Amino acid sequence: MQPCNACRELVGKPSSVSPHGDLAASGVSAIGPSGHTTKISSNWNCTVCGSWLYQNTADGTPPGEWVMGEHQRASPGKA
Ligand SMILES: [Zn+2]
Repeated sequence: MQPCNACRELVGKPSSVSPHGDLAASGVSAIGPSGHTTKISSNWNCTVCGSWLYQNTADGTPPGEWVMGEHQRASPGKA
């Protein structure tokens, strides 16, 4: 599946850039022990092309940048 233009344009942009209009919020990813987790990204699913985009925090990899992934890395139970 090909990412749509809006998704492709977002990848590599600073996380301060807002998600495009066809991205649906789908939880967050965090690392660390329970109760002391560090948020590493907000997760978004494109309703047009189905791509997963991750809006990384300063603790993400790479920090503070939009990246694209194949599927959601965390947050079980969400269909
Ligand atoms: Zn898309």
